[in-house]
Amino acid sequence: MTVSHERAVLERDGPLSMIIDGEQVDAEKTFKTRNPATGEELATVVKGTEKHVNRAISVANDAFDEWKDTAPSKRAAILREIAEKIREHSDDLARLDCLDQGKPLSQSEHDVEKTARYFEYYASVIDAHRGDSIPLNSEYMDFTQREPYGVVGEIVPWNFPTNLFARGAAPALAAGNTIVLKPSQVTPLTAIVIGELITETSIPEGIVNVVPGSGSEVGKAICEHKNISKIGFTGSTSTGRTIMKSAAENVTPVSLELGGKNPYVVFPDVDFDTVADDIITANLFNAGQTCSHASRLLIHEDIHDEFIPLLVERYENLTVGRGIDDPDVGPLVSEDQLETVTKYVEIGKEEADLVTGGQTARESSDLPDGYFVEPTIFDNVDHEARISKEEIFGPVLSVIEFSNEQDAIEKANDVDYGLTSGVATKDIDRANRVARALQSGQVFVNEWYAGGVETPFGGYKQSGFGRAKGIEAFKEYSQVKNICYKVRQ
Ligand code: NAP
Ligand code: MG
Repeated sequence: MTVSHERAVLERDGPLSMIIDGEQVDAEKTFKTRNPATGEELATVVKGTEKHVNRAISVANDAFDEWKDTAPSKRAAILREIAEKIREHSDDLARLDCLDQGKPLSQSEHDVEKTARYFEYYASVIDAHRGDSIPLNSEYMDFTQREPYGVVGEIVPWNFPTNLFARGAAPALAAGNTIVLKPSQVTPLTAIVIGELITETSIPEGIVNVVPGSGSEVGKAICEHKNISKIGFTGSTSTGRTIMKSAAENVTPVSLELGGKNPYVVFPDVDFDTVADDIITANLFNAGQTCSHASRLLIHEDIHDEFIPLLVERYENLTVGRGIDDPDVGPLVSEDQLETVTKYVEIGKEEADLVTGGQTARESSDLPDGYFVEPTIFDNVDHEARISKEEIFGPVLSVIEFSNEQDAIEKANDVDYGLTSGVATKDIDRANRVARALQSGQVFVNEWYAGGVETPFGGYKQSGFGRAKGIEAFKEYSQVKNICYKVRQ
């Protein structure tokens, strides 16, 4: 590995290969990834096929017995080695992620640090993990143990390429599974590099395999394969439905981490400056392309007229630019995503009042070929409007007024999704009542994105099921076996 791995990756002669059985494997077809800040081609990557998926699953299956029976302390040591390897290359991984995905460099750095932290955290979970013994009567001895599933198929989207690799792979490996992972075609580079770095550790071959390619071929082949024993999917609700249907054929268990339309409920007793800063993070981190971001601001009618102009002023002072220059807000990930967000901005103009933003770079910037959209706020949005109900996945905030606590809860819950929500108030009793009433897998009180690798994360309603992060993810990637002995008297 050279000093600047990022540059070495981008200047390789051939395309980036997939990783199967600890080897770099080529394919006949390739695809290009782009830098979303400029629209320029960034790198060429081999395009996996069903044949590659079959081979990856076969080697992962062969590697499973040995990995499952590896002493937990040894598995933990290997996960720590992976974390260390990622940290060694963190600057290059962050820059590569920033160029391929578009996000501000400091956010990529944060993601890469979390990526290493996932492997470290699940190494500790392995060490601390214990089973249960169940008291029956004196004639029986009963205990449970957690066992891995086998080969896990991990399918991830483009919004957190490094972090989501680890969020699935680390608990899956910790529990003793082997993996075949498919990154998004839009952002495959860091997954491939992390796959390469893993081959440089002492992990045996075949345990971690990375097969880039399309969802319709590689993703589908993974989900339909009878030797895939568990699917971890992160992506949109519509793809989640398709995956659930294909998993039904072999009764393969799935975890679905899907979309959101997450509300931030703000009561009048808050400090305006603190909450305004928090909304900027909540709504605009990763240019709003975050499943758990706040896309609806539910604001009490008594403070609406004072608070919204203050928020608008802050949005207008944010810097928008190339991720590598570390602005406040980077570009959207792709031309497709730019189209989706632009479509919703047009819908929003029909449904509500555009109070700031809404322009693309094509209309107003010195980076006309990048996929930029200004931080955008729609005010006076009806909670039944499309921009209140549908996931936009961009730097867009829909402001909805409420009159009292009950009204806030009803409006907050009146969507098909239930991933995250937030409440800002100094009244602890109110915070507690509202947090209990909000229908989502996670509620942030007084700081959006509070929590971390340790705190369980996942959806209610159409945001999916199963839990990522925390001890819960270790359980998610393992199954319980009960063993009961008859004790002869
Ligand atoms: P997506 O279109 O659903 O794609 C996600 C992944 O699934 C990609 O790797 C995609 O491959 C693959 N795929 C597509 N069709 C498939 C099929 N039939 N079978 C198997 N795999 C298939 O989602 P996205 O646009 O990349 O990501 C944005 C969405 O992800 C948003 O809805 C967001 O809320 C959600 N998300 C959720 C979480 C969470 O933790 N809950 C986290 C991040 C993002 P391609 O390479 O062909 O696209
Ligand atoms: Mg890209």
